[in-house]
Amino acid sequence: MKVNILLDYLSSLNDEVESLCIAVLFFSNRIFTQGSKSVMNIGFSTIIKVLSEIATLDSSQIQRIYLQHGDIGALSEYAVPKKNVVSLFQQQPLTLSSIYERLKQIADTIGSGSSKDRKNILKGLLIDSSPLEAKYLIKIINGELRIGLTEGLVEIAISKAFHQDLGYVREAMLISGDISKVVLLSKRNLLHTMLIKPLTPISYMLADVMFSAEEIINYYQKPLICEFKYDGIRAQMHKSGQQIRLFSRNLSDLTNAFPELANVAFEAKLSLSKSSESLSDIEDFILDGEVVAFQDGKPLHFQELQKRIHKKNLTEQVVAETPIIYVVFDIMYFNGESLIKKSIKERKETLSNIYFKEPIINSIYGLVNSEQEIISMFEKSKDIGHEGLVLKDTDSNYHPGKRGRYWVKLKKELDTIDAVIVIAEYGHGKRAGVLSDYTFAVKNDNNNNNSISNLRISGKAYSGLTDDEIHQITKRLKSIMIKNEGTRIIVKPEIVLEVAFDSIQKSNRHDSGFALRFPRIKSIREDKNVSHIDSLQKVKQIYEKQTYIMSKK
Ligand code: AMP
Repeated sequence: MKVNILLDYLSSLNDEVESLCIAVLFFSNRIFTQGSKSVMNIGFSTIIKVLSEIATLDSSQIQRIYLQHGDIGALSEYAVPKKNVVSLFQQQPLTLSSIYERLKQIADTIGSGSSKDRKNILKGLLIDSSPLEAKYLIKIINGELRIGLTEGLVEIAISKAFHQDLGYVREAMLISGDISKVVLLSKRNLLHTMLIKPLTPISYMLADVMFSAEEIINYYQKPLICEFKYDGIRAQMHKSGQQIRLFSRNLSDLTNAFPELANVAFEAKLSLSKSSESLSDIEDFILDGEVVAFQDGKPLHFQELQKRIHKKNLTEQVVAETPIIYVVFDIMYFNGESLIKKSIKERKETLSNIYFKEPIINSIYGLVNSEQEIISMFEKSKDIGHEGLVLKDTDSNYHPGKRGRYWVKLKKELDTIDAVIVIAEYGHGKRAGVLSDYTFAVKNDNNNNNSISNLRISGKAYSGLTDDEIHQITKRLKSIMIKNEGTRIIVKPEIVLEVAFDSIQKSNRHDSGFALRFPRIKSIREDKNVSHIDSLQKVKQIYEKQTYIMSKK
C-alpha cells in the first residue's frame, strides 16, 4: 500500500529530475547522500528556540507540549499556526527544490558565529511553511521521519516506478549507497553502469565490535563462522582476464607495493568437481582479504608493511626483507557473476573450490556454536600472533560500505575507563521516557580537584545496561538534575560508570580532545564516587598504546 502511493508519487515526478532525487532522499530519512560531508548542524535546542521565537510560546509551554506529543514534528505543527511573524515576501508555495536549497544553505553555513545564521535560515523556512509542511520539514531535519518507510521500501517503489529489476536496484544501492543516484540511473535505464565489475573497487564491508564470547553467543543464538582476525592491511584483489589490481581500504591502488601477489594471482585455479582432479582457469574475480607481513609461520608487526607501501621504487631487497601473505576471506564476484547477494556460506563454498598459490592463501575459519568454542579459537588465534577473531553471520550477504552486526570482531579488550555521567538524554522508541544515553567525563588532572570545571567530556554511551538498570538510573539522574533542557538533562557529576570501548580517537567534538569509540557500559560503579574516576592522562596513555592499530586503517 505504502509502496504504491510512493511509486505513484515518484512516477508523477518523472519530468522533474531534481525533485525526484530530493524526494527519494527525504523518504529514505536523509537529506544528504550517504557519506556526504554535508551535515545540518541544527540541534534540538535550535529548533525549540526558533519555534518559541516565531510563535508566542515560552519554554515551559514548549516543554509541556513536547512531552505531550513526544515528537518535535508534532510540536512544530502545533507551534507554526501561532506565528506572530509573517513572511517578508509574497509567499510562494514551497517546492522540494526551494526547501532543499535552503537546507543546503544551512549545511554550508559553518565557522564561528554561524549558528545564529543557521537558526535564521531555519526560521525563515518555518515562517514560509504551513503547519503540516513544518511538521514534516522538522522531522526530516531531525532525521526522524517515522512514516513507516524504510530505504528498502523506497527501493521497491523505484524499481516499480521505473520498471527496473529490484535486484539491480538493490545492488546499485549497495555499491553506491546513494539513493538519489540510483533513482536517476533507474529513470534513465542506466543501472547496469553501476553494477559490480572487476577492476572497479567497491566499498568494503565493515565489522561491528563485541566484547566477549558470551555476548556473541547470547546475541546470535546460532552457529557462526569464526575466523582469525589478521593484523595487516585490508586489500581487494581484482582479476579481469590478464589484468590484476589490488586496492586498499581507501580504494587506492596497491598493486605495485605487492608485486608477488599479482604474479601468483594468475595461477589461481577452479576445481571443477569434488571427485575429479581437473582444474580450470578463472576468468575474473573480486576477492576481499588482508595483506599480512608474515615469516616462519608467524605474523610480523603490522608496521613492517609500511616499508612496502611508502617506497616509490620497490627494490627486490625490500620485497625479500618483508615477506607477506594475502589471506583471502571473501569473494564478491566470480566468473562473470556478482556474489554480493549470496550468503557468506555460499561465498565461502565458492572460495573453497579455488586453489590459490602461496603467498595467497585462504583464511582459517570454522563454525562455532558455544562460548567455549569461541574462546578456544580466540586462544589459538592469539597463540599464533593474530589479533583476535571475526565472527560472521552465516546467512549474511556482502554489504559494501556498511558496518553492521553481520560481522563482529572480538579483540583483546583495551583497558576500561571509569567516568562520571554529566548529561543524560531521553531515548527513542522502546526507550522513550527514560534517560538512556549518557555523556560521561573524566578528570582533567590527576589531583583531587572534583569540581565540574575539572571535568572533560570523553564520549557518550547508550548500550550495556539492562532495562531495569536504565529505569533505576533514570530515577537517580532526575534526582540530581541541575538543568532541564527538554530532551536531555544536565546532572550533578555523581554516578560513576565503568566504560569499555573499541579504541580511542582524537576528537574536536568533546572538550577532552578525545572520544572513546563504540563505548559500552560495563557496570555502574556503585563503589566509586567522582573522586575515583580516571583522568585524561589515562585516556591519553591508552590512545598512545593503540595508535599503531588506528593509524593503519
Ligand atoms: P578494525 O580495523 O579493528 O575495525 O577491524 C576490522 C578489520 O579487520 C577489517 O577491516 C579487516 O582489515 C581486518 N580483518 C582481519 N581479519 C579479518 C577477517 N577474517 N574478516 C574480516 N576482516 C578482517
